[in-house]
Amino acid sequence: MVGAREISRQRVIPILSVGLLLLAGCGDAVSPPTPLDCSDLPLPYALEIPEALRGPAAGARDEHLRGWIELLSSPRTRGRRADAGDALPVAEVIGRYFGSLGLEPTDGSGFCRGFPAFDKTDFNVIGRSPGAAAPRLVVVAHYDGQGLHPTRGPFPGADDNASGVAAMLEFARLATAGSATTECRPPFAVIASGAEEVGRLGAQDLLDRPPFPIASIELTIVLDMVGRPRAGVEAGVEAGVEAGAEAGVEAAPVLGYRSAGAEAFGYLSSGPLAAAAAESGFELKPMSELGEHEPGRTDAEILGREWPTILLSTGLHDDYHELGDTPERIDISSVRRITELLLSLHRRLCP
Ligand SMILES: [Zn+2]
Repeated sequence: MVGAREISRQRVIPILSVGLLLLAGCGDAVSPPTPLDCSDLPLPYALEIPEALRGPAAGARDEHLRGWIELLSSPRTRGRRADAGDALPVAEVIGRYFGSLGLEPTDGSGFCRGFPAFDKTDFNVIGRSPGAAAPRLVVVAHYDGQGLHPTRGPFPGADDNASGVAAMLEFARLATAGSATTECRPPFAVIASGAEEVGRLGAQDLLDRPPFPIASIELTIVLDMVGRPRAGVEAGVEAGVEAGAEAGVEAAPVLGYRSAGAEAFGYLSSGPLAAAAAESGFELKPMSELGEHEPGRTDAEILGREWPTILLSTGLHDDYHELGDTPERIDISSVRRITELLLSLHRRLCP
């Protein structure tokens, strides 16, 4: 008599054998676990995190900000054009950096979250503070760029938008650093958004498939071009408004803002955002007061349809989308002030 256990062994062993043969013959059919650090992206070239950016350092550091801006706008990145695939190594290096900071991905696909774009897959790079299932502050900056000039090489895109990415990354580093466990640490998320310059496709995917509960978001800050500020007097005169600065007194650099979510505007334009801007040494003005330098279409207009969103920008300039948008022309103190503003806003979410 053959027991039930024996029957099942007789049936299972051949099945297992066939299965093992299939596995051995078709190794590609078994996909490896998704790496959280985006290293499975099809990379046309590789980027290394500069040595200057490694290791802990307190306070927003000019050399960190400069290092990121120079890395992202270097000719090696070929202008970070999304539909050419040249932005993917930038996404990968940002994902790797998120991992090194101890940030967490929002789902099992890792820091790089794919979305369909131009018959391929493009990526938003999303990290959240440890354990932050429901972030209250979200900082977004697009990492893609204009690509290659027809005859004169890559567009550096230092201000647009390496500057915004650098400030976002330095905020992420400092907001996750520190040793005190008792201090208030409001949950936050940082997003390097993809394919902004080719239709704001990354922002649209964030809207279509939110990576965390939208109801928890008190404020989304979109950074786009934050490294070329003009002095308050100059901006005021250009825009035809009273500058209010006395002769001989150096005016604070102007930071433009625009609300793409009415709720965020009412909540913050005269509250924590104004206080954080003052603390970080900016004169805050509505983008409309920056005259013809008002940026038009950004991720903020997309996200603001459902997320409480404010765009921060130092405004357009003659080098916008031109070869002259180089790292040398970035006012690094402006990018540092943006980082400090974000840290100040983050603190102000504490009770
Ligand atoms: Zn931009």
